[in-house]
Amino acid sequence: MFDALSARLSQGYRTGAFPPAQPNLPEHFAGRPVVSKDVDVESLQPICPTGALCRDCAGASAIDTGKCIFCGKCAEVCKGISFKKEYRMGAMHREALLATDAEYHPEEQLDRGIARLYGKSFKIRQVSAGGCAACELDFNVLNTLAWDMGRFGIQAVASPRHADAILVTGPVSDNMLLALKKTYEAMPKPCLVIASGTCAISGGIYATSPQVNAPLDGILPVDLYVPGCPPHPAVLLEALLRLIAIRK
Ligand code: SF4
Ligand code: SF4
Repeated sequence: MFDALSARLSQGYRTGAFPPAQPNLPEHFAGRPVVSKDVDVESLQPICPTGALCRDCAGASAIDTGKCIFCGKCAEVCKGISFKKEYRMGAMHREALLATDAEYHPEEQLDRGIARLYGKSFKIRQVSAGGCAACELDFNVLNTLAWDMGRFGIQAVASPRHADAILVTGPVSDNMLLALKKTYEAMPKPCLVIASGTCAISGGIYATSPQVNAPLDGILPVDLYVPGCPPHPAVLLEALLRLIAIRK
């Protein structure tokens, strides 16, 4: 007992300071990009594996971060594209995932009822719907001592009947479609739907497969899109806190 207490004291507090401190991102972290107006996205499209280079509704050059796998190939050949350290990439509307050169402000949760419902306790059922497992791993990381999402009342649960939200990863393969729908149907309503990772948002690198049913928002009503392949834990945690209107 004394040894255990002594070890605990010597190890100190291991949970990261983010948030409210800034996250400790890796040197090569690629966050939300900036795309200059003069970038000829059409000429770059052949090098993009997921068709993420596009134009927004106003015709501005853009990267669709819901399709981008952040491989960096476009930025290597085009000076007008740069990936920043902006980790606040989660969005509550699909169109907000289009990154241009416009000044960026992450979307705020405008529904004050959300904070009242989920502000102290937010239970998430994760469904792995055919991805490569990296998105799942980085969600699991949030359960660890280092990230400890439980300090915000956020917890992963095994049963959909105990869940406030379903977090889907992967491109929704044919084999997972029925299980995904049944899981959603088993959840008490209202509940939130989170598309975590490029595969869930758009199909990502699997989008053209005939066995894939992505985008998730064609199957379930998505409340939060979290870009990344996979989303860094800081990206996901910040987006979750913003979704449920917890300010840190
Ligand atoms: S970084 Fe994104 S937009 Fe650029 S080539 Fe890779 S997938 Fe396409
Ligand atoms: S988005 Fe990327 S990391 Fe996540 S499941 Fe798809 S391929 Fe894997």
